[in-house]
Amino acid sequence: MIYDVIIIGGGPAGLSAAIYASRARLKTLLIEKSGCGGQMAVTDFLENYPGFNGGINGFELAVKLEAQAKDFGAAITYDEVTGLNFAGQTKEVIAVNNKYETKTVIIAAGADVKKLGISGEDGFIGRGISFCATCDAPFFKEKDVLVVGGGDSALQESVYLAKFAKNVTLVHRRKEFRAAKILQERLLSQPNISVIYDSIPEEIIGKDSVESVKLKNVENKQTQIVKVHGVFVFIGGVPNTAFAQGLSLDAAGYIITDENMKTSAEGVFACGDIRKKQLRQVVTAASDGAQAAISAQHYIENH
Ligand code: NAP
Repeated sequence: MIYDVIIIGGGPAGLSAAIYASRARLKTLLIEKSGCGGQMAVTDFLENYPGFNGGINGFELAVKLEAQAKDFGAAITYDEVTGLNFAGQTKEVIAVNNKYETKTVIIAAGADVKKLGISGEDGFIGRGISFCATCDAPFFKEKDVLVVGGGDSALQESVYLAKFAKNVTLVHRRKEFRAAKILQERLLSQPNISVIYDSIPEEIIGKDSVESVKLKNVENKQTQIVKVHGVFVFIGGVPNTAFAQGLSLDAAGYIITDENMKTSAEGVFACGDIRKKQLRQVVTAASDGAQAAISAQHYIENH
């Protein structure tokens, strides 16, 4: 079986590409590592996706997108892509369970959570350290938690955590947040959220689970110990490009594309959070996915 297009990743970018590719009647396979939806699927509430006045749960939108892609004829399989081979006439997508052949590839594998890389972090994952508030917030009912980060994720998830936790302490390494102003307003109006600016965690401390965090003020270098039961880390992502060696990447590892989602390799396109761009949102992921599919269609028509 030679596919017209193989899409790697089932987040909003990949699923949107699958909708557009299958509507263009391309033989389309989407390969997803775990479950469709990507980071969107673990977002409790999306309030800025157009058309959903009042917001929508991220998992619910993922289920709808997946069903829409399948309805138009896209096939979805669960496998982990480990490499790409562009040497032959057709392209090879190498995964753990299978090898797949295709005329074009759309990479929509998104980004994984970035870790702090400090002492105690790895040892307490699942025992107080979390990267997903939607998944773990209920474990911290009436407890004290610390959130790290100053972007949209950290502020949005702090407000969500404040519904469960007794107190939320947000630690940010600067004085200004990079998060949207509306999220800043919401955060600062929550009575059980406090902010520690200009500080970074240096060590996670505990015996069987997290008991406290050592923070360092980056301005005056003073340290303090904050007692908490849990730490939620939202400090951005690391693009999932390990299998995509050979493509042009920027210094942070994001795939460089043109405005039509073309990468440095012929017939290979990238869309969503994995590509170098300014605005990483569900709406821009969906837009990228649509464009990548149409670019793949044009490539097939011209080769
Ligand atoms: P982000 O926008 O990259 O922000 C990461 C934050 O973590 C920044 O404030 C950064 O500080 C801080 N940081 C990075 N490395 C750190 C370290 N080693 N130690 C301490 N702090 C560190 O990441 P994000 O908030 O996860 O968002 C990712 C993308 O998804 C963004 O494009 C965002 O807009 C989007 N998103 C949107 C929504 C929404 O629209 N509601 C919700 C979630 C995510 P500096 O500011 O000093 O760099």
